[in-house]
Formats: sequence, structure tokens, C-alpha cells
Amino acid sequence: EAKAKGRNTYHFYDPNLNAAAKERMIIENELRVALKDKQFELHYQPQIDCRNSEIVGYEALIRWLHPKKGMISPVKFIPVAESTGIIVELGEWVLWEACRFAKRLEDQGVVNNVAINLSARQFKDTNLVLLLSKILDKTKVSPKNIHLELTESMLMGDIEAAIGQLHELKALGLALSIDDFGTGFSSLSYLKRFPVDILKIDRSFVKDIPQDTSDMAITAAIIAMAKKLKLDLVAEGVETKEQIKFLEDNNCYIVQGYYFSPPLSEANLEGFRKTLGSQ
Ligand code: C2E
Ligand code: MG
Ligand code: MG
Ligand code: MG
Repeated sequence: EAKAKGRNTYHFYDPNLNAAAKERMIIENELRVALKDKQFELHYQPQIDCRNSEIVGYEALIRWLHPKKGMISPVKFIPVAESTGIIVELGEWVLWEACRFAKRLEDQGVVNNVAINLSARQFKDTNLVLLLSKILDKTKVSPKNIHLELTESMLMGDIEAAIGQLHELKALGLALSIDDFGTGFSSLSYLKRFPVDILKIDRSFVKDIPQDTSDMAITAAIIAMAKKLKLDLVAEGVETKEQIKFLEDNNCYIVQGYYFSPPLSEANLEGFRKTLGSQ
């Protein structure tokens, strides 16, 4: 039995496994190869200030360019990477890569933020702060231009430990965002105790504006609360002019979404900057 020999033995394909478990196992094995063969790439989605259509930052989003299957979505492989622990190595690669990108922007004289998604496992890793301080040091990027995106669920559980970790990350000089805000059912009473800087309004609230009046009420309430708590805001998944109008009318000015641009490879960013500049 493979299991009896411990975790580091081969995975062989058991015909009794269901299709989903089989797919996970295939992804797990292929992820290890992919790491070794450098099949990953970061794409960057611009975050725009809709008052002047200027780029204020980018979110780094990982892409897996599989040699046979083509591009695989992070929605498919991040959970597998997380549950198998592969995320630790993969996440470290993302941090290096995104910080180097941020440094290249700085070297071009551009003051833009680069937001990096952290996984639950990375956040809980006692090594994270040391790793980040090494990466900031070696890449020479300004920490204030680096934003780390966390989700509410990562902060639940051991709240005191989470708050401690957030303070240590803040002490490095970087900014912290709560991603997918409003979807995690975390208690609002904790929000004031988390030393975070930015709320990202989840796409699920934005996507049906202006048809869904409940979503509009929720979005307006999140914006009002963030203002009172002196938190910055980014609206995710903005696809239409009407959504921008609604967000602007409610004092949320930084938007990310297909209306302006999907995530782009670094090579394609320059073209986007040119079209934005000539609008
Ligand atoms: P997320 O962090 O909430 O990222 C936003 C997702 O929304 C991205 O999907 C982005 O491509 C997509 N999106 C942006 N604008 C629009 C829009 O206007 N319409 C629609 N329909 N979608 C939009 P993506 O790139 O597939 O990433 C999915 C999730 O995978 C991310 O959600 C994040 O949770 C995770 N992820 C991506 N890259 C990384 C990474 O480097 N590390 C970790 N731990 N997770 C990552
Ligand atoms: Mg994110
Ligand atoms: Mg998000
Ligand atoms: Mg989201």
C-alpha cells in the first residue's frame, strides 16, 4: 500500500477513485513537474482610478501554461496546491516574481502598487515574515508598493494569532488588503482589530449592478463603512460603465475588472498603457 509507506511514495491510479479525486491526483503530480519545469507565469490586472483613468496598481494572478492542456485556471490548481502543501513553494515563487515586477516598475519611474494573493497555508507559515523581509531586501522594492491580499476565512479560527501575524507583516512596511470582502462571513467586530488598509469589494456584489438593488445596497454599505474606518477600497470585477457610475457616485474610485482590462502578461501591459493614455 502506498499509504503505508508514508507520504512521499508514488501515487498510483486506483481504479476505485472517483473522477474528481482522480483529477486532483493528476493535478498534484503535474504541479510538481510544473514547478520544476517553470510552467508558471504571473499576469497582471491593472487597477484604475476611474476619476482620471490612471493606473494605480496591479494584481498579480498566477497562470499555469500546461504544455499539453494549455492555460489552466488558478481556481482549479490553487486548492490542490494548498491541500498538498505545494503552495508553499509555489507561493514563494509568486512573491519573488511579483516583487521583481514591482521593482521593474519602480525602475521605470512608475509609482504603482502590486497586489499579491496569499494562501491560507502561506499566511499561517511561521516563516512568512522572514521570507518576505528577505525578498524585500534582495529585490530592493519599496515595501509600501507591495500589497498582500488575504481573505476573511484565513483570519478566522485563531484570531489572536492572525492579528499578531498581520502586525508583523505591517511592520515590514507593506499594505494589507482583505480580498473578496463580504463573502467570508467574518464578524465585523473583528474588522476594527485587523490592521488592514484596503477592502476589495467582491465581484459577486458588483456584477449585477445596476439591476440588483440588494447588491447595490450592500456595495454602498461596504463603501460607507470603509470610509468611516479609513480603509481604502478597490472594487473587483467591474465590467460596465453603469457599474463605474454607481461606484463613483458612492465614492469608490479604484476599480479592477474587464471594463478596463483583463489580467495581462507583462509583455502586453505596455500596449494597454498606450491605449489607456490615448483615450
Ligand atoms: P481573486 O484574487 O479574487 O482574483 C480576481 C479574479 O477575478 C481573477 O481570476 C481575475 O482574472 C478575475 N476577474 C477580474 N476582473 C474580472 C471581471 O471583470 N469579470 C470576471 N468575470 N472576472 C474578473 P483568476 O485569475 O482566475 O484567479 C482566481 C483566484 O485564484 C483569485 O481570485 C485568487 O483567489 C486565486 N489566485 C490567483 N493567483 C494566485 C496566486 O498567485 N496565489 C494564490 N494563493 N491565489 C491566487
Ligand atoms: Mg485577489
Ligand atoms: Mg478578489
Ligand atoms: Mg473575488
